[in-house]
Amino acid sequence: MNRIYLSFSIIVLLAVNCIVTFSQSVSCGTIVSLAQKTMEDTIKSIPQSKATESLPQLNKTLTIKVYLVKNKLNDAGVTDEAIQLAIDKLNIYFKPIALSFKICDIIQVSNYKFDNLSASGNETELTTLFSEKNTINLYLTTSVADKSGNPVSGYTYMPADNKNYIFVSKASIAGTTLAHLVGHFLNLYHTHETALSIKKELVVRTDSICSSTGDKCCDTEADPGLNGLVDSECIYVGKLKDSSGAFYQPNPKNLMALSIDACRCYYTNTQYLRVAHALKHLKKNLR
Ligand SMILES: [Zn+2]
Repeated sequence: MNRIYLSFSIIVLLAVNCIVTFSQSVSCGTIVSLAQKTMEDTIKSIPQSKATESLPQLNKTLTIKVYLVKNKLNDAGVTDEAIQLAIDKLNIYFKPIALSFKICDIIQVSNYKFDNLSASGNETELTTLFSEKNTINLYLTTSVADKSGNPVSGYTYMPADNKNYIFVSKASIAGTTLAHLVGHFLNLYHTHETALSIKKELVVRTDSICSSTGDKCCDTEADPGLNGLVDSECIYVGKLKDSSGAFYQPNPKNLMALSIDACRCYYTNTQYLRVAHALKHLKKNLR
């Protein structure tokens, strides 16, 4: 009975999170590196049948060290309460596998040159000066630029890159960017990922295809890329077809989709199983 009540509570909590309050498009600078692709080849795919089994309960809490970079006017721009709210939200998303996060410290960084963070510029200097081993280092800056210099909501590194850094723009901390990036950090790909296979994921699910293409999760729908194809009601409005002629039916509500920020509100069971695997095998030194 308690279990049923708990499941119901989680569904209600997630449903509450699915209520759309604003429409902000998202961008992500996370890259699937060669090292990540090579590592992914060694991971056994999760068959569709596994997705219906009960989820593992990790009973684990990971610590997050936050670095809040001040701007030129010596203003942090984000309150400690806003950061805590973002972590609270993260904890709701990961509750189904009993994984939680807690802030161990919030450090204010006074050097405003880091307030415009760049993956190909000052990232190395910032992380050399400010980072702690075996914990998640979360950096909040006014702007974040990806490797090509494009402004993004944030980015992080996937497990094979062996860097415990997550960068989020201050404007994005209230949304779903952090949950999206923690997903990458714990080995989840975009639902539209194409870096892992030369074959495109097909709409019709069969283990041999969906577990080796796209994001390698058979319970996330094939996704052609959602940029500009999601309306304010979180409905996919594209008319694209896969190579077999079937219309795509992606879900803009998946946290690993690049859709509208407030549309994203859940991970699938296979995504949870991949996270559990990552914590057991790929990120086991995190505390
Ligand atoms: Zn992403």
